[in-house]
Amino acid sequence: MTALADLIKARIARQGPITLADYMADCLMHPTLGYYATRDPFGADFITAPEISQMFGELLGLAIAQAWLDQGSPDSFTLAELGPGRGTLMADALRATRGVPGFHAAAQVHFVETSPVLRAAQAKAVPDAQWHDSVTTLPDQPLFLIANEFFDALPIRQFTRDGRGWRETTVALVDDTLTLGLTAAAPLGLLSHRLEDTGDGDMVEICPALPAIIGDITTRITAHGGAAFIIDYGDWQSKGDTFQALQANAPVDPLATPGAADLTAHVDFAAIAQAAGQTATPMVPQGVFLERLGITPRAQQLAQTLTGDALDAHVAAHRRLTHPDEMGHLFKVIGIAPTADTPLPGLV
Ligand code: SAH
Repeated sequence: MTALADLIKARIARQGPITLADYMADCLMHPTLGYYATRDPFGADFITAPEISQMFGELLGLAIAQAWLDQGSPDSFTLAELGPGRGTLMADALRATRGVPGFHAAAQVHFVETSPVLRAAQAKAVPDAQWHDSVTTLPDQPLFLIANEFFDALPIRQFTRDGRGWRETTVALVDDTLTLGLTAAAPLGLLSHRLEDTGDGDMVEICPALPAIIGDITTRITAHGGAAFIIDYGDWQSKGDTFQALQANAPVDPLATPGAADLTAHVDFAAIAQAAGQTATPMVPQGVFLERLGITPRAQQLAQTLTGDALDAHVAAHRRLTHPDEMGHLFKVIGIAPTADTPLPGLV
């Protein structure tokens, strides 16, 4: 057991069962014992697209630069990333866009990141960035933003439909062991937008923090121009239990080692589109998005400089990012544009 487990148990003993969202928030974000506060998890517990291949950040950088050119190259803008991890994506994006005239001179890099350990890693990768705890303090100017595997780390609540209403998943204490439970049914009106597509026994997940974050980004992009590219694993409307824990690259019991395993849930892209209103693009699978941005010619160009194991690893990385059996289909991409008819690269 972990020190954080003792704290969470004491909290439940005091106040009763807690929601999954409260449990996730404690596990991931506790200021001293939380998962992201205490470690750099990349490679050890999981691996993300920018850590798999430099092509991911390069292509996103070029997509943003193209969107900036399409909007008349505003001469001062925020180049933002939410949850930048090690800063690898932004470093690759900046390197790939060095040749775009005026782009670097106009860009100010802003990172939204709460983990001090990861802020330090990001400062090494991108020395002149500025940091924020949330999107609400970003400057008021055109906003070009990337979020890769950010929303899957935000706490979720889980509800199971049962005749009389929705029962919420809780974390309770049974014989001094953290155990999943269900509340009594709350009225069906609680999730009125999911009544048509669900029946008894179906489970729905919601991310309470998501609408305000997407709303803030959308307001800025609509007012000042810009674009957002949001990439994550998930699908259109959550259905079923996607709450999971990863440790050492393998699934583990999410209640077994609070603060020591990564906790995530799939992202509901319909919730993003709804919060962004008219200006969300269609949702596209990651493999399709990267093909549209030209990952194959870029992969072929890089392959010419490689031999042996390095070439094999590069070919495997290309496949991993794009193939439907790997990340190509499980991960999706959605954009936010200033108006419904502003095209965004890769997203139509
Ligand atoms: N985008 C990176 C990292 C993904 S991991 C990559 O693709 O490699 C999730 C990132 O989001 C981490 O940097 C984590 O510290 C950060 N994060 C998680 N929840 C956050 C929150 N509520 N506010 C700000 N950053 C958060």
